[in-house]
Amino acid sequence: MQLDRFIQINTPYSRRHVKCLLAEGRVTVAGSVTTDAGLEVDRFVRIELDGQILQESQSHYLMLHKPAGVVSATEHPEHQTVIDLLPPALREGLHLAGRLDLKTTGLLLLTNDGHWSRRITQPTSKIAKVYHVTTQDEVAADAEAVFGQGIYFRYEDITTQPAELERIDSHHSRLTLHEGRYHQVKRMFGYFDNEVTALHREQIGGLTLDPQLPPGAFRPLTAAEIALF
Ligand code: URA
Repeated sequence: MQLDRFIQINTPYSRRHVKCLLAEGRVTVAGSVTTDAGLEVDRFVRIELDGQILQESQSHYLMLHKPAGVVSATEHPEHQTVIDLLPPALREGLHLAGRLDLKTTGLLLLTNDGHWSRRITQPTSKIAKVYHVTTQDEVAADAEAVFGQGIYFRYEDITTQPAELERIDSHHSRLTLHEGRYHQVKRMFGYFDNEVTALHREQIGGLTLDPQLPPGAFRPLTAAEIALF
């Protein structure tokens, strides 16, 4: 909805009067004065007139520690979803900023702010995602080099972006990806015929999973965390 229309509906003022209020710099949107009557505003943004709140910001940004066995989706016919882990009052309108496989654990972000989640998920953003990987067999001697060069995925006909592998011990490593392809970590280790037996996402960009959150728990992001993306 356009800003002038929103103000007209939510105040006793006429459309002409609203235009004057805007021109006089008496309206703020998300904390900034705006004079743009045609600005598109959604139901998430805070709008004030002369310091009086006309609409409270209703954005929600959550981090969740995804447990194994829960689907990264808002609905599923068989499995419990990550949305089911939230109190009903919080669920409406939320979507996931990225997904994890059924058995994968770790950091998942949920929001009702599509602009924010797009900045995380759009392929051009190349935001680093850090995974702790446990493998069936020892990590191959040349894994750093191969992951650094990229691996050809025949199905998509692409070569993966350079990824960084940090060896923790023979069967544990930390892998940083800058993209998110289907089953990407498993398929990358699959190149070496090495099965991933446990996968846990520790970090997305500058945001690390809160160590205080046990599997299945969530918390709102702080303003500083939201501003990371
Ligand atoms: N790569 C995978 O194989 N699975 C995930 O859940 C995430 C990345």
